[in-house]
Amino acid sequence: MATYLADAHAHLDEPELRNVKEAVLRRAREAGVGLIVNVGVGRENSQRAVETASRYPEVFATVGVHPHGVAALSPQDLDPLTQLATHPKVVAVGEIGLDFFRRRSPEQVQEHWFREQLAWAHALGKIVVVHTRDATAATLRILRESRGYLLGGVMHCFLGSLDEAHAFLDLGFYLSFSGVLTFPKAEPLRQVARRLPLDRLLVETDSPYLTPQPWRGKRNEPAYVTATATTLAQLHNLSLAEAARRTWHNTLTVYGLDGKWKADDLKGEAET
Ligand SMILES: [Zn+2]
Ligand SMILES: [Zn+2]
Repeated sequence: MATYLADAHAHLDEPELRNVKEAVLRRAREAGVGLIVNVGVGRENSQRAVETASRYPEVFATVGVHPHGVAALSPQDLDPLTQLATHPKVVAVGEIGLDFFRRRSPEQVQEHWFREQLAWAHALGKIVVVHTRDATAATLRILRESRGYLLGGVMHCFLGSLDEAHAFLDLGFYLSFSGVLTFPKAEPLRQVARRLPLDRLLVETDSPYLTPQPWRGKRNEPAYVTATATTLAQLHNLSLAEAARRTWHNTLTVYGLDGKWKADDLKGEAET
């Protein structure tokens, strides 16, 4: 079997990528990226994420409301997303969570909608994709409160300490590393990453954001997940192929795609 890379978290339907999607997906295939989780951040964007997933075999989607977008949310706003979540290519609820760095909505409002969306994910039978920034303690508190009905999840763009990593692993979460892992100043993060069990780690681009070295400064896209996987491979003394194989497997496992998705068919697609 060929070696494929999985981009565990990207935003193909953000304005920066939406109109160049064909070219972006072609370059991803050429780079060996055979699976992309296209993460929704709001109501409209989640709709687009699912549409994209329904068009491209290697793209899967999540639906949810990012903490940036919860300020004016009302309970019935989740109804169309509930409908959307029944689409067979929707693999998670997300991204949801807390962002006390930008604080675009009050902390209590963010916490309310984080709890609500965790309960909603449970009702839908989905895992969650969690965003946390300057809010680790509150994120852990709410996840622990919800522990009884968590079906698993991904801490996306993990930037925390070793202790924080283990707290999330203990809750059953997988940790996803973004291009930040390649940044020259990220040595502390690399020291954390090398001490973590590889069977719970993923790589992501968070495209169009967080472009890894050596492309930093350019718009990010899924093809560049190679750089983060290469760094992770070095940290674990593995070949890129082996790190790709392991993180691919983890991505399929956490998103419930084991046995449901094989990328070998993409070769034919790319040639047509
Ligand atoms: Zn995020
Ligand atoms: Zn994201």
